[in-house]
Amino acid sequence: MDLSKNIQFIKGVGEARAKLLNRLGIFNLDDLISYFPRTYEDRSKPKKIEELVDGEDALIEVIPVTRVNVARIRKNMTIVKMNVRDDTGTCQITWFNQPYLKSMFRPGEYYKFYGRVSKKGNRVEMNSPVYDKEENTKNTGKIIPIYPSTYNLPQTTIRKIIENGLSEIDGKLPETLPEFILKEYGLCDINTAISQIHFPESFETFNIARKRLVFEELFSMQLALLALKNQYTKDVKGIVFDKNVMMSDVINSLPFTLTKAQLRVLEEIDYDLENKKPMNRLLQGDVGSGKTIVAMIAAYKCVRSGYQAAIMAPTAILATQHLESFKNILSKFGIRIELLISGITKKKKDEILEKLKNGEIDIIIGTHALLEENVVFKNLGLVVTDEQHRFGVRQRSIIAEKGNNPNVLVMTATPIPRTLALILYGDLDISIIDELPPNRKKIDTFAVTKGMDERVNNFIKKQIDEGRQAYIVCPLVEENEEINAKSVLELAENYKNNVFKDYRVEYLHGKMKQKEKDSIMEDFKNGKIDILISTTVIEVGVDVPNSNIMVVENAERFGLAQLHQLRGRVGRGEYQSYCILKYNGNSDVIRQRMKVMTTTNDGFVISEKDLELRGTGEFFGTRQHGIPEFKIANLFEDIQTLKSVQSIAIKIIDKDPKLEKDENILLKKLIDKKFNNRIQI
Ligand code: ADP
Ligand code: MG
Repeated sequence: MDLSKNIQFIKGVGEARAKLLNRLGIFNLDDLISYFPRTYEDRSKPKKIEELVDGEDALIEVIPVTRVNVARIRKNMTIVKMNVRDDTGTCQITWFNQPYLKSMFRPGEYYKFYGRVSKKGNRVEMNSPVYDKEENTKNTGKIIPIYPSTYNLPQTTIRKIIENGLSEIDGKLPETLPEFILKEYGLCDINTAISQIHFPESFETFNIARKRLVFEELFSMQLALLALKNQYTKDVKGIVFDKNVMMSDVINSLPFTLTKAQLRVLEEIDYDLENKKPMNRLLQGDVGSGKTIVAMIAAYKCVRSGYQAAIMAPTAILATQHLESFKNILSKFGIRIELLISGITKKKKDEILEKLKNGEIDIIIGTHALLEENVVFKNLGLVVTDEQHRFGVRQRSIIAEKGNNPNVLVMTATPIPRTLALILYGDLDISIIDELPPNRKKIDTFAVTKGMDERVNNFIKKQIDEGRQAYIVCPLVEENEEINAKSVLELAENYKNNVFKDYRVEYLHGKMKQKEKDSIMEDFKNGKIDILISTTVIEVGVDVPNSNIMVVENAERFGLAQLHQLRGRVGRGEYQSYCILKYNGNSDVIRQRMKVMTTTNDGFVISEKDLELRGTGEFFGTRQHGIPEFKIANLFEDIQTLKSVQSIAIKIIDKDPKLEKDENILLKKLIDKKFNNRIQI
């Protein structure tokens, strides 16, 4: 058996189908057998005709009461019809364009049909069912796997190919988990797992198979991350910053005192920076907890130790804002700070690149533009990525590679439960700011439905009349016929000319030119705009203390973590602030989610609820976190398994960081294979 055997040469495949399978990411035998079903159809439990429900897929055991009737309705269309019955009722079976079925059935004999039920009044029909005669089990009588598929590759075909793949394996897959782990966690062997996940004999055996495969997937991921962390930190020689550079120089110059949490985190960072292993630290802190100042102080330490620092933000708006904050605090120390975003002129850009290379810039703040190849540093000592959830692991490493093992700090305002942090950021040390600066007023949050528009608008007017400003966030840029949601352009048009015609209304969205966006943001900051209508481009980090109202249109379309982020745009100054969530829809989940938002301001609580109410699918979109997708595990459902794999992985790596011991050989193989040798230990 050769697991690397090209898929083309598996029985039933051939050149054309191989191409289709390639599109599904299946290139060899190993890929094929690891291509798990998306769901299953239980075709093992027959129902009585009387019990059938409209729209369900069901199995019936029946005898035909009429001959098969074939009707040609159009040139290329035939309909095959037949009435069947059991002891509770009758049902009409219909197929399209399969005239050969005419000779397949005989009245009085016994068949099983599995298909979609349609029921109108007393009339029961089943369309295009699969069938078996008597006790045959080709299509019925068992649990059938349904695979994620692609055009031109029907379920029956893909099922057959997988069956062929499994016969080639013939129960002889080498075990991938060590005996002691299988024993300790009561896991089945790999061959049982693979065969039962594809063609389970019962839901019991399916559960046993799934348990083992989920364990293996999470376990190898966790082991790999821990090994990776070790690789960064154990042997690698990083950059040691100067012990004589005091963070307190900056701290004492600030117009406010740092919170205890900020000081604690700075101590952790300071320790890392003076240590010879490179820092790889994640800083988690709720919106407004004051992460930027922490990054600034770390950058100060870096620059004063003779190195350059790079600060990467996900949007130009945010980068520009960071530039200002950094200059405010650090310019007085003679530190040279520049901005690199794609919107600047070529001349300016060339000049910055040159200075960066020569060491005439101490801190560079920018967007993805910093990742470009021609961005070269003289001696990069610190990389900070803000709002980490917008960047992937990959981007983090591209920028770090521009230096010689620089210290890395990643910051995120998406609070995630500890267990999950370990799997998402298992390769990082974690610091948490769990305290907001003093005197922050609680943001009053209201969830409202349609009828409240006028009251909301009057409330906004009243606040603006008192000198405040408001944000209105919509899910879409332009109107979209298919999606029933408010768009920025539509709303701006209406608000500018009607509802708020006596006020200064502007709009902002991601498709606008950088220059336009900057100038509108600038105007908003300077109080020249009363109401800013926008997409979520303003989601992260934007700081305008005078604005105290955040209205979110179609709040039901946003994740809770995202709503929390949006809400964090207000409540940044001395004024009582408000968040108004306008929502449509009446489902329980929507109402529960709105309730979470109106009852708590705690980002950790919100993220846990978000996870609970939406499941991991959306929460862990790769866009959000840049983590690999799991083939079978679901971080929400499998949280208990996740916890146990974490503790065992930590134990193993602690005792045997390079997985060199005999008992761990299989584990080393496992992660080498799963991560394509990208992680060298
Ligand atoms: P975030 O953690 O969301 O990035 P910021 O770093 O933007 O938050 O900080 C939000 C605001 O709070 C900024 O205006 C910042 O100057 C201010 N700030 C930070 N730390 C403190 C503190 N200890 N006391 C008072 N204000 C602070
Ligand atoms: Mg921030």
